[in-house]
Amino acid sequence: MSNIKHSVSIVGAGISGIMCALTLARSQTCKGWSINVYEQKSRVGGRAHTTFINDQFLDLGAGRFCSQIHVNVYDLVKSLNLEYETFPFTQLKTSQPIQKELKQLLDNLKPLIAEHRNDSFSDFLSTYLGPSKASDVIMALGYDSLSLPIISPSIAYDIIEKHPETQGFSENVGYQWFNLKEGFSALTQALYEQALLLGVNFHFDQELIAIEHSTDSHNLILEDQLGQRQTLSDGYKIVTLPPSRMQQLDGEFPKRWTNYSYGSSPLFKGFFFYTDSWWQGLGLTDHVVITRNPIRKLYFKDNKYVFFYTDGENALYWQDMYNQGEQHYLQAVRNFIADALHQSPESIPVAHSHIHKFWTHGVEFSKECCPEHPFYLTLGDDSVISLSDAYTHHCGWMEGGVLAGRHTAEAIISKQKATNHEPEKEVAYT
Ligand SMILES: Cc1cc2nc3c(=O)[nH]c(=O)nc-3n(C[C@H](O)[C@H](O)[C@H](O)COP(=O)(O)OP(=O)(O)OC[C@H]3O[C@@H](n4cnc5c(N)ncnc54)[C@H](O)[C@@H]3O)c2cc1C
Repeated sequence: MSNIKHSVSIVGAGISGIMCALTLARSQTCKGWSINVYEQKSRVGGRAHTTFINDQFLDLGAGRFCSQIHVNVYDLVKSLNLEYETFPFTQLKTSQPIQKELKQLLDNLKPLIAEHRNDSFSDFLSTYLGPSKASDVIMALGYDSLSLPIISPSIAYDIIEKHPETQGFSENVGYQWFNLKEGFSALTQALYEQALLLGVNFHFDQELIAIEHSTDSHNLILEDQLGQRQTLSDGYKIVTLPPSRMQQLDGEFPKRWTNYSYGSSPLFKGFFFYTDSWWQGLGLTDHVVITRNPIRKLYFKDNKYVFFYTDGENALYWQDMYNQGEQHYLQAVRNFIADALHQSPESIPVAHSHIHKFWTHGVEFSKECCPEHPFYLTLGDDSVISLSDAYTHHCGWMEGGVLAGRHTAEAIISKQKATNHEPEKEVAYT
């Protein structure tokens, strides 16, 4: 029985897909299996996307992790000997008066959230503080997703407690955050190299264009850049694309797969390099300022560069601004930085270079308040498995991708062990 060779086809070489492939490849039960990963781009990593510019590694996508919350990512970073450093942006430079009383205010309201399971965070705040102060609170927290009708008070508190910029308004004030010195791509690259050594085959520039129903199963249809198609019909077929992409492939996603529904938020990051680190004189080094204008979160990295990071409506705002012309965009950024720091626009130097990245579906999540977090979903006949960080309690984070990839692989290994009549053993992650 154990000599039978199986095949596994995994679509997507982000953290979820690589972790799934690696967990299978490490398992004794799957020894000799043919494991293939198909990726539409010519690189691994997905939304972990680091670039190198002006002698700096910049994370255009995923950027930071918390050693207390993202324990699996932290373990991987240590076991792979990746260099990491403190992500300093838990240090908020208070710029809005309400930020001084915000921790107390949120602490006082927290016991009341159980009575407001079906309300939005915004309505919850309005009930106790009135609409104007409620809006001030959300402005002071820097994440526009907090104002969405689908964000309940309990999800909002979770967001506040688990983000570096806002954890200071919660009891997680002392949590430690890190970034990789060579960016988050160093993690996916190192895992990719391990997978290669264990015999996993990677196929780049292969786009999954359809999930096709055949007589007794479902097949994956891939297309390369020359328009050549191939059909994957054998073995385990695993799709590690985020829910928004699944929706494009299967008009009936998520209905055919699960009772949950999924949403996403756009994200925008802009980085700026200057001849002088002018912010040092203002005492802003390694601080983050949460603004009331469309910049929303403004970071001053060491003496190296300045960046801003926005979600929701303001991410769309900046993408639209950029589309109106680069100079238009740069002038708007300069004006809003000045506004945030209470300076005149002329006193903010002109950046000598910049880079930005807009993500239409930056983070993806379940819209239901208390999902059971399935880690992976299957089509009715089990012939295709879909996995994503969005199906875990760490949706929107690399940690969720690690967990989804591992859980799916473990489920396959367990199934195979049962078929082989092998005893269940703990899987060791070293
Ligand atoms: C701006 C931004 C900031 C973030 N910040 C953080 C952070 O600080 N910390 C953190 O932990 N997380 C952060 N995240 C979230 C993190 O990036 C994701 O949770 C993680 O990358 C999800 O991994 P994944 O493998 O599930 O999906 P993805 O990374 O999206 O990987 C999916 C892969 O599938 C490929 N693919 C898509 N469609 C197809 C197709 N049709 N055919 C073939 N291949 C396809 C994609 O090219 C990609 O390689 C951030 C994300 C963004 C965008």
